[in-house]
Amino acid sequence: MKIKAGSNLTKVKQANDISILGMIYQNGPVSRGEVARQLEITLPTVTTTVKRLLEKGVIRETEMKEQDFSLGRKAMAVDIAADSRFVAGVEWSPFGLICCISDLRGNIRIRKQYDEPELCGNYERLKYLTGVYVEEMLKESGILRERLAGVGWTAPGMVDAENGILVCSSIGGVDWKRKLVRADLEELLGMPVAVENHVKARAIGQDLFCRAARPDVYLYYFVQAGISCCIMVGGEPFGKGKQGTGDIGHAIMDLDGPVCNCGKRGCLQVFSGEAMLLKRAKALEEEGKCPVLAGLTAKGEPLTMELLLQAAADRDPDVEEMLQTGVRYMGISIANIVNLVNSPLVVIDSAVTSVPSMREYLDQVIREHNYFKEELELETDYVAANRYTGALGACAVAVKELVIRRP
Ligand SMILES: [Zn+2]
Repeated sequence: MKIKAGSNLTKVKQANDISILGMIYQNGPVSRGEVARQLEITLPTVTTTVKRLLEKGVIRETEMKEQDFSLGRKAMAVDIAADSRFVAGVEWSPFGLICCISDLRGNIRIRKQYDEPELCGNYERLKYLTGVYVEEMLKESGILRERLAGVGWTAPGMVDAENGILVCSSIGGVDWKRKLVRADLEELLGMPVAVENHVKARAIGQDLFCRAARPDVYLYYFVQAGISCCIMVGGEPFGKGKQGTGDIGHAIMDLDGPVCNCGKRGCLQVFSGEAMLLKRAKALEEEGKCPVLAGLTAKGEPLTMELLLQAAADRDPDVEEMLQTGVRYMGISIANIVNLVNSPLVVIDSAVTSVPSMREYLDQVIREHNYFKEELELETDYVAANRYTGALGACAVAVKELVIRRP
């Protein structure tokens, strides 16, 4: 049994500040009365806290979205002051370094992408370049350094967000162990840094910046070279510290399947991961198949996911068949997790499902394998996959950890 820590007045005040600012972020514009009602905090406490937050400039007074004229005067509300401060988000990805600066609502002001996959294995170089690019973005956007609340950082692998440690990762084919990434970046940048695993960061980004009404439990399923699934519970990713990395890509789907880069056979990412899809497409092309794709790569263009998806959209029969196989395994793995946690919603972040026929097929496979289909009405929601979802997710981690939780 875990014993809960006690509370004192300072702690209570701090907890109230965080929940009031969080509530305004989620629901704003919102009246003070509504904040008090929903949080079950007295109106005088809400009024005092709101006054303090207004003085700090992190929220501002505004008119209600829907006016209630029966009261005879305009109802005043409060909302987050989106451009009062900014955050930078940085992703160390298999493609290189991707970063952006956004306001507090996730509107991107400047973005940068450095496709240098050979960088990926080099921790010191990536760290150094993070510093260079954050400074460059500030300079080019004209945003003053003192208006940057901090930096969110993300990467694939096991991340201990509470202690700021990259526990292990293997980006760029190099194994990293116990990197004190938060402390290293804070020292380098001279500002607060928050860190998180790359799929958890994406899930937080979607949840925080979209502000859609979501069920209490849902899944965020992300496909790139690897495949991960974050279980969201009450607006938070499941698992603290080292828990909840969500790596479903190495779940074995076929005991005697092809060998995965982890050394095991038949892992999910061997069937549905982007690196393996590209490899398979190349092999098919060399066999003289994939007529549409062959036309697209005829000018000596390297085979990319973009070209592969275009060939599928242009109805290349071999590419479609190959992608469908990948989507089928993906759908079965999603249904397996749905059956485990009975989640009524799955948010899917995958380039392959930008092709409408693949999206329809994935929906069909998930539906067919949903064991509780009579009882569980399952919804799927597709994120427009792009290179910046990770960096923007890192911005959201910074907003959550460095602004909302430190009012
Ligand atoms: Zn594997």
